[in-house]
Amino acid sequence: MKKIEMVDLKGQYEHIKEQVNQSILETIESTMFINGPGVKSFQNQLESYLGSKHVIPCANGTDALQIALMSLGLKPGDEIITADFTFASTVEVISLLKLTPVLVDVDPQTFNIDIPSIEKAIGPKTKAIIPVHLFGQAADMEEILALAKKNNLYVIEDNAQSLGAYYTFSDGSKKKTGTLGHIGTTSFFPSKNLGAYGDGGAIFTNDDDLAHIIRGMVNHGMYTRYQHDVVGVNSRLDSLQAAILNIKLKKLDFYNDSRKVAAQKYNNRLIDCQKLITPHRKGDPDSHVYHQYTLKIINGKRDSLVKHLNEKGIPCGIYYPIPLHLQKAYTNELYKPEDFKVTLEIVNQVVSLPMHTELDDDQINFITDTIKSYLV
Ligand SMILES: *Cc1c(COP(=O)(O)O)cnc(C)c1O
Repeated sequence: MKKIEMVDLKGQYEHIKEQVNQSILETIESTMFINGPGVKSFQNQLESYLGSKHVIPCANGTDALQIALMSLGLKPGDEIITADFTFASTVEVISLLKLTPVLVDVDPQTFNIDIPSIEKAIGPKTKAIIPVHLFGQAADMEEILALAKKNNLYVIEDNAQSLGAYYTFSDGSKKKTGTLGHIGTTSFFPSKNLGAYGDGGAIFTNDDDLAHIIRGMVNHGMYTRYQHDVVGVNSRLDSLQAAILNIKLKKLDFYNDSRKVAAQKYNNRLIDCQKLITPHRKGDPDSHVYHQYTLKIINGKRDSLVKHLNEKGIPCGIYYPIPLHLQKAYTNELYKPEDFKVTLEIVNQVVSLPMHTELDDDQINFITDTIKSYLV
């Protein structure tokens, strides 16, 4: 059996090696290392893939969130609601901009931001909601958009983990995640569903005015050369990363399908185990692209299971071990444990199994057999 990796980037590269190498070489030969033609063609390709009017590439997914927030003209102290159970980027950029993060609990089944908790957290200073489509699954966008509309709030979707997923509205219409709110952001960190060979990110919007503001902001606040109208940042997608992403974006649907197939195989083999809960997909098959395949271990043995799996040569991850509201940088005396019941429970239950585009049946069988024989 092939060695099991949490993410098998080497195995994936083997299949696209010639195209990727060619694309990298052409970029080097062109010496257009910054804003080369590959960046523009990647932008266009991603716009049509998403069905989004504007894509603005940038340096990474954290910058994408920061720039999205900067573009809204908010004032220090304005409140931004986001999930307690996610990667720290979201709350980090809110705090950096001297805005006030308001963390709320998540749904115990999907791990996505909990709608009643958002509703409770909305106050006179609330200006935006940042839902994260966590682990590849679309958050409850219809409800979020309705709350935002009613309260006149912006919605920024953190789509770093779910590029290619769809949200289906109750009337049956579908849109790609990241294109439903005012602004969507994503990351091309190598382990993401669309991963570069270094850092990268993008911002998407259908709003012409926001797109214009954002395009200047990623480039030092310049709308005309050497005229700085607003305070901006330097955040670009590298031409070499764009050269790689141009190849890989064409394969993203295939990659996401491979993840869905692997998830289904895991489900089939683990569903009868009483000591764990397999991932809950709330919507149709398009609503989840399995950035992570995350189990809940409900017999209190999560940590010893992780140790056992590692001893058997099976890597796994705990995303995320500590709720953001308990992180030293982000605590707030207003937070009460009863407001984070779900997060406080799931941080001790979750474990993410190897998930990537190269998993084979032998590996899945070995992983699931090892889990089941340990948990009986
Ligand atoms: C990866 C990730 C980010 C940050 O992306 P970087 O490119 O690493 O800065 C932000 N939010 C979520 C949910 C992520 O998974």
